Amino acid sequence: MATGEAALFARLGIRREEDLALHLPIRYENETRVTPIAAAGSGRTVQVEGVVVHSEIVARGRRALLVELRDDSGTITLRFFHFYGSQLRQFAAGRRVRAYGEVRGGLFGPEMAHPRYRLVSEGEALPQSLTPVYPTVSGLGQGRLRAAILRVLDTLEWPETVAPEALRALGLPATLEALRAIHRPAPDVPAEALQERTTPAWRRVIFDELLAQQLSLARARAVRAGQRAPALPEDALARRLVETLPFALTGAQQRVWREIGGELAAAQPMNRLLQGDVGSGKTVIAALAAAQAIGSGWQAALMAPTEILAEQHLRKLEPWLARVGARIAWLSGSLRESDKRAVRARVAAGEVDLLIGTHALIEDTVAFARLGLVIVDEQHRFGVAQRLALRARHEGAAMLPHQLMMSATPIPRTLAMSYYADLDVSVIDELPPGRKPVTTKLISAGRREQVIARVRAAAAAGRQAYWVCPLIEESETLDLQTAIETHAALQAELAPYRIGLVHGRLPAPDKQAVMSAFCEGRLQVLVATTVIEVGVDVPAATLMIVEHAERFGLAQLHQLRGRVGRGAGESTCVLMYRPPLSAAARERLKTMYESADGFEIARRDLAQRGPGEFLGARQSGEALLRFADLERDGDLLEAARRLAARMLREQPDRVQAHLQRWLGGREEFLRA
Ligand code: ADP
Ligand code: MG
Repeated sequence: MATGEAALFARLGIRREEDLALHLPIRYENETRVTPIAAAGSGRTVQVEGVVVHSEIVARGRRALLVELRDDSGTITLRFFHFYGSQLRQFAAGRRVRAYGEVRGGLFGPEMAHPRYRLVSEGEALPQSLTPVYPTVSGLGQGRLRAAILRVLDTLEWPETVAPEALRALGLPATLEALRAIHRPAPDVPAEALQERTTPAWRRVIFDELLAQQLSLARARAVRAGQRAPALPEDALARRLVETLPFALTGAQQRVWREIGGELAAAQPMNRLLQGDVGSGKTVIAALAAAQAIGSGWQAALMAPTEILAEQHLRKLEPWLARVGARIAWLSGSLRESDKRAVRARVAAGEVDLLIGTHALIEDTVAFARLGLVIVDEQHRFGVAQRLALRARHEGAAMLPHQLMMSATPIPRTLAMSYYADLDVSVIDELPPGRKPVTTKLISAGRREQVIARVRAAAAAGRQAYWVCPLIEESETLDLQTAIETHAALQAELAPYRIGLVHGRLPAPDKQAVMSAFCEGRLQVLVATTVIEVGVDVPAATLMIVEHAERFGLAQLHQLRGRVGRGAGESTCVLMYRPPLSAAARERLKTMYESADGFEIARRDLAQRGPGEFLGARQSGEALLRFADLERDGDLLEAARRLAARMLREQPDRVQAHLQRWLGGREEFLRA
């Protein structure tokens, strides 16, 4: 290929011949049939063929090239907004054109905007099978890309990386055969199966991709097992901490603490995800882990995604751990530079046992004297790169710190197997005793008065309420404005009760002041943007109002609702919505009304949104999946996992070859 073209291919990630063969269609188009123009109904995607009657460039309104085509049944207009002058000459009257696209009913008859088209001669044969459509970049047309792919498929050597008996058992074809069938499907392949990627050929490719992912995750795990971490066996501090807690650990907390405490005592780095529904009591487990690290003479770091959340941890952990003699420090972006410097110096000198904070913990300038344990709260909020960075604090040192990640977002099994296969998982599946289930009410915004009355009654009874402002898509400014207006309105409506306001733009000290006032009961209502979504813990708050609840996602609503129901009192979550609701919003609110179980909500969330969106774009492992769909391909994932284990034991050469072919240099991400 020419150099300019090579750059275009490179932008598609195509460098090797194999990459070209693995550049798979996003969909197929059916050009095997020609539809008579008169029969091409509006809204359908079809291929028509006709002779050019007339073509012109019109300048009225938006400049466009219009081409009128006629066949025996009628006429249709092709409309192009982006075009070259040469295209006008191409469409000289009398030329025969095949056009493929969606038909729309225009003012002057049917139209196709930007169809794909070809000039043909009369009676030219139609393709026998579906036409693949590839992801591409501007400057590289489908025809050119397809030709390059087909050429390479004829000459490419593709030694099989999966043992033939394994393929036979799974009923899957050889890879090269599968690739040919995907790029140049045979006429008799059912179009639907091809589109939905359920033909044997597609399943083979998807299987290979999942196998590569499972192999590399397993390898990452093996590498980790070979690495060293400080053994943190001393649990006297942790035991003392348990004794001083104002409550007894639940059975589930005891079980996960045994798992975690035991693993910290070993000299291999722990890489563990602690999952537990909102309010299940993960923080105390973090405190115990920190105590065990500190008791063994090492430092611990606790990182949270927001300043408010990190601050809550400080507030909670400080009294617990100070009682057992630990030295705790705080580091966040909003500290004065000189204070930050002082904290960093104490951390480097080993005078801090537990450092709590935000992203500031992973800035280059923080060097720990003896970092033994890293705790990351709400880990899904951090990107892979950030988690790597915290780990890398110890790059060059002989030992890696142990890593404990916490999340309230439960991950369904197929996802856990695939995206987090390098993590061990502990689950707290029990809430502390005495929690009363939160009553959820759906109330139309038209009945706001009733909601106000409810808040007033709660305040009169000495209880507190959160009032969460509507989410405004991608506009922090509007978010802020709404919060300020809501705050002002509520102050008037709820006088003489005291109403506080927190939002993302508030300077950290002000934020802290408001939060303390609310925690200490000096404010009856806290108006907030979603900054309170994670981690805030105020037991006397028993009422949660979410305005425009239909704009929030399921996970967010569940998190928000989890802010109440933390004390002994009856709690209520009011989801206010503004009709009319879209079908998806109705479904979400119904789910919230029907279920209080984080796992069930996550399952429905996944079903409604699909895994990509569910996980956020940056999770580890995801970068490795281009074709697989975990909902559709669950069976292949199981099979890939089993085969991966066997190959690693018995066929190291095949493992190497398979990874090389599928991943090239993309394995980096798996170390997070
Ligand atoms: P999350 O898992 O959402 O982070 P927290 O750790 O913030 O939950 O715990 C929620 C609340 O429950 C806190 O007030 C915490 O002190 C309390 N808590 C935790 N464990 C227990 C327990 N075993 N018994 C009673 N209360 C508990
Ligand atoms: Mg928490």
